Amino acid sequence: MFDSEQKINNFHNSSPLGRLGGAGIYIHIPFCKQACHYCDFHFSTSMKKKEEMVLALAKELQLRKNEFQVDSKFSGVETIYFGGGTPSVLTVDEIQFLIDTVREHYAVAQNPEITLEANPDDLSEENLIAFAEIGINRLSIGIQSFFEEDLKLMNRAHDSVQAKKCLEIATRYFDNISLDLIYGIPDPSQNGEQAKQMSNERWQQNIETALSFGIPHISSYALTVEPKTALNKLIQTGKVASPNDEVAQEHFMILVETLEANGFVHYELSNFGKENYFSRNNSAYWLGKKYIGIGPSAHSYDGDSRSWNVANNALYLKALQNDELPNEVENLTLEDRYNEYIMTGLRTIWGVSLVRIEQEFGAQYLDYLKQQSQKFIDDGLLSITDGILKPTLKGKFLTDGIASDLFCLNLE
Ligand code: SF4
Repeated sequence: MFDSEQKINNFHNSSPLGRLGGAGIYIHIPFCKQACHYCDFHFSTSMKKKEEMVLALAKELQLRKNEFQVDSKFSGVETIYFGGGTPSVLTVDEIQFLIDTVREHYAVAQNPEITLEANPDDLSEENLIAFAEIGINRLSIGIQSFFEEDLKLMNRAHDSVQAKKCLEIATRYFDNISLDLIYGIPDPSQNGEQAKQMSNERWQQNIETALSFGIPHISSYALTVEPKTALNKLIQTGKVASPNDEVAQEHFMILVETLEANGFVHYELSNFGKENYFSRNNSAYWLGKKYIGIGPSAHSYDGDSRSWNVANNALYLKALQNDELPNEVENLTLEDRYNEYIMTGLRTIWGVSLVRIEQEFGAQYLDYLKQQSQKFIDDGLLSITDGILKPTLKGKFLTDGIASDLFCLNLE
């Protein structure tokens, strides 16, 4: 653990994120070839408006070019992140056009991290070479599982052969690759309540297959059932078993143990990276850096307020065609900021600093936090070391629930 903390401190101190004034741009590409059964993100499976959308995204970038305060502290746009939806459904030219638009209107730092989320079925040797040539220097590939049955159950657009093939090719042209894996997946080929879940052996095999490609970053999430998804319907109608919390927790522990044994730092609840390969984009969010979110449903944060764009492609396009920004803004109260710090602090290796709580939020918040966290400390789920509050290994899987118990409501 000490070794991991040393690595993350090195990262924190040496990274450009450690400097004041850096910023990020997130660009949401709201299209997918097909709807994954578990997904409740914003996307459309119709590509009819793709070209129009690319122009609207460029327009939004242009309209918002003055949002980052450019002063002596501003160190430029340090990360550009194409997320979605499925950004890899765009052509190389469309992505290049958007990168060029960012460079035209914003001060971009030297060597920015430019990430493209991509699905295996979109990646060919030809476009991987082209993506590298236009400046994409990080890929986040939505593998999710190397097993055919899991991919079918989730209705992914790719198969297990494509999952492996694309990693084999991608690693020839990119060294900074992250892949996504999902655990706690029900297994429809099995009978009996417990057997209906992905087995620990199978999960271990998924992790080992990922490791065999030598990639330096893995993001991994438990399958969750969102209300308005096809997965929820399949469960309600008895066609698929409900994910089981105990199984998911076992998978999480296997994940942490296996990746740490292979030199990965567990730097955020769902993210594991080798030294120098933590996501600069996501770390910026967790460290409270400013970012602009472009595109339908994208969120932005400027230190004092959050805003979010309308999650509707037609309304977004219409507004941008009229040079309007289709967003809502919420000013953050002290309480909102405290709650946010608790959530991100507990999820990351940086933890929650009690000194920062007192300095930024006051003694009342510190007392409240100490009082609320005591029961979790007594149960061995949280610990305080050198003034930093963090989940223990036992508490990690329960982080989100614990954090919500530490939130403040109406303290002001
Ligand atoms: S590809 Fe990603 S965004 Fe699109 S439906 Fe699947 S999980 Fe959702």
